[in-house]
Amino acid sequence: MVQTIAFIIISFLAFSFAYKKYKAIYQAITLGKRQSQIGQFSLRLKNMLLFALGQRKMFTRPVAGVFHLFIYVAFIITQLEAIEIFADGFLGYHRLFAGKIGVFYAFIINFIEALSVLALIATLVFLIRRNVIKIKRFQNSDLNGWPALDANLILLGEIILVTSIFMMNGAEQVLQLIKPETYHPTGTFYLSANSTMIWLRNLPFDWLQFMERLFWWSHYLVVLGFLVYLPYSKHLHIFLAFPTSFYSDLSPRGQMSNIPAIENEVRSMLELPLKENVETLESFGAKDINDLPWTTILQSFSCTECGRCTSVCPANITGKKLSPRKIVMDIRDRAELIVRTNAFKFDSSTQATEVTDGFSLFDQISAEELYACTSCNACVEACPVLINPLQPILELRRYDILMNSGGPQAWLPMFNSLENNQSVWAMSEPRTQWIQN
Ligand code: SF4
Ligand code: SF4
Repeated sequence: MVQTIAFIIISFLAFSFAYKKYKAIYQAITLGKRQSQIGQFSLRLKNMLLFALGQRKMFTRPVAGVFHLFIYVAFIITQLEAIEIFADGFLGYHRLFAGKIGVFYAFIINFIEALSVLALIATLVFLIRRNVIKIKRFQNSDLNGWPALDANLILLGEIILVTSIFMMNGAEQVLQLIKPETYHPTGTFYLSANSTMIWLRNLPFDWLQFMERLFWWSHYLVVLGFLVYLPYSKHLHIFLAFPTSFYSDLSPRGQMSNIPAIENEVRSMLELPLKENVETLESFGAKDINDLPWTTILQSFSCTECGRCTSVCPANITGKKLSPRKIVMDIRDRAELIVRTNAFKFDSSTQATEVTDGFSLFDQISAEELYACTSCNACVEACPVLINPLQPILELRRYDILMNSGGPQAWLPMFNSLENNQSVWAMSEPRTQWIQN
């Protein structure tokens, strides 16, 4: 009875805490601009199945891809055991599903244990890659401090989770032999029984009971810990990779969207027919989170911080300050800060959000980073969860150039040529003429 009450109180506290944090993330995502048209449902669904569920892009780096798959599948399937623990805890039961689904029960537990072993191997490989081999993309300064600790914490949590499963199941197997009237047969759990028997079989009954309860609780507490911890962690991508891939940009790589109001100015200059129903804008590009589409903010919360984007970025490779991973992380950090400090106002009549703390993304992202980008799309191509770091870079640049008259001095002749001759080169005659000639 005491255990059931403790279980209900701890679960309630964890779920309430997690709810608040997930709600804050939802608020952060909705700081972005609403998009009226999404469309192309079947293509989006296909992307979600291929890239989030099927992890297609992960396998461009096969070693990381295979080990990541072990952890991912084990994490999902292990939740079957967590469901039983949750039901047992609430009802004050023990192994609720055992005996109800026949031999299938032992099959599922054995399957979970086999996956857990693979996940444990993968976890150790990932810890070694980060901390011993020190793979270059994990040593970048973007990851200093919390991001590096975050990556290790979740791997350690994974080790505690798998150890708990094995110790809990192993103790139970011995208890079934000693007191079959209380610990009724569930079938053999081959991996846990064989790996833990050697330590457990000589323990007294009370100790075995204690061990079984201890690891039952530690398993459940780690699951609750993940639930509470994920919103603080890059591992939120476990959930958000699905909506991110669903809402990913479907336009062809390299296609940049025009600003309709500016496009009309160019059309009028070239004496082309004007586009109708074009909204007049007071500001162009993006200065802060509220100027970016909500999908860009969603993407920033889905970033796995894997650094695949930065590792292929030609600007970064050639020693420039730009790291697309940092840009994505900066957007997420800024959105979180605005919600944490309540520095925003939502106007329901215009469906627009105003940021009120007087800061902007330009306080985190420097012009040097923005103008180092070659718009090559390599980062977009590399991202396993279909994040587009180029899109916010272009929007920030547009703001800087059109609203602040910013941009590198060396670009000024190009801007003048574009304005006067509609060409990036200093042609002596207007574009319409030199095209004909
Ligand atoms: S588009 Fe820009 S940020 Fe992305 S890889 Fe190319 S240069 Fe780097
Ligand atoms: S943007 Fe994509 S590729 Fe870059 S670090 Fe994040 S998840 Fe990895």
